[in-house]
Amino acid sequence: MTAASDRQLTIAVAAGKGGTGKTLISTSLAQAMVRAGEAVQVLDCDVEEPNADILLHPRITGSEVVNILVPEVDMESCIHCGKCAKACEFAAIAVIGQAVVTFHDLCSGCGACAYVCPTGAINEVPLRIGQIVSGTAEGGIEFHQGRLDIGHQRAGPVTTELKRHISDEMITIIDAPPGTACPMQEAVDDSDYCILVTEPTPFGLANLREAVDTSLRLGVPCGVVVNRDRGGYEDMERYLADEELTVLMRVPERRAIAEAYSRGETLLGASDEWLGELQDMYGEVAEQVAQEAAL
Ligand code: SF4
Ligand code: SF4
Repeated sequence: MTAASDRQLTIAVAAGKGGTGKTLISTSLAQAMVRAGEAVQVLDCDVEEPNADILLHPRITGSEVVNILVPEVDMESCIHCGKCAKACEFAAIAVIGQAVVTFHDLCSGCGACAYVCPTGAINEVPLRIGQIVSGTAEGGIEFHQGRLDIGHQRAGPVTTELKRHISDEMITIIDAPPGTACPMQEAVDDSDYCILVTEPTPFGLANLREAVDTSLRLGVPCGVVVNRDRGGYEDMERYLADEELTVLMRVPERRAIAEAYSRGETLLGASDEWLGELQDMYGEVAEQVAQEAAL
């Protein structure tokens, strides 16, 4: 099951809000595809609150530090022109009278301040913002997880480093951060497909609308998994039909699933009945990607 370009698919699993079962679906899909004989890797891009390890139980074998380059000002060379502060989109550097103040927790490491400084007073020095841990989970799933250090706000550089691990040789499943803000967009961007997990509530529907808009704006085709489905939520059904969204799977609200989750197990821990459904979902996704590529 390869993409049209003869490389394996990269599939993001996202949700308009936290707690909808996004990680449950991404890890279950990874396990189902490994059981289908595929090589699979999981990238946990929910770097502010990563938790795919709780369901996949990987054996961690390595880690790497993620740094960004932040400005360090040599006040001997500074002429207090203010160009650095003007160039910064994140208000991470300010010139106040004869002083230049930097706020490294706001800095994205873009380097613009050093670039515009007319006297070369700004040196760029590494600052640790997080790490990536890597290992292997059951069935040979390759596992990479980004972890943003406490006190840092810029998830983007960790996600970027994490996505460097994407291999064309394996199905890549990206567990994206919840919501539709920059961290989610950075995780989903450039994926072949985005599986959007939702739940049949007014809140779930409002978030799903935003997530669909975001995915399509990124140019990433998407389909929907309705989790904790109880049936009969007409507003959501109407929306799915009106937007012609593919419902890839419906996971019912069931005690056995909740119990498996609380034990740190995926859908396959609840019942093998999900194996075929998850593999069929992958098949549907691959077919849609192939159709898009053929357009
Ligand atoms: S590196 Fe970029 S974000 Fe950081 S202070 Fe300089 S201009 Fe601002
Ligand atoms: S751009 Fe350079 S010289 Fe001008 S205020 Fe900033 S650090 Fe000082």
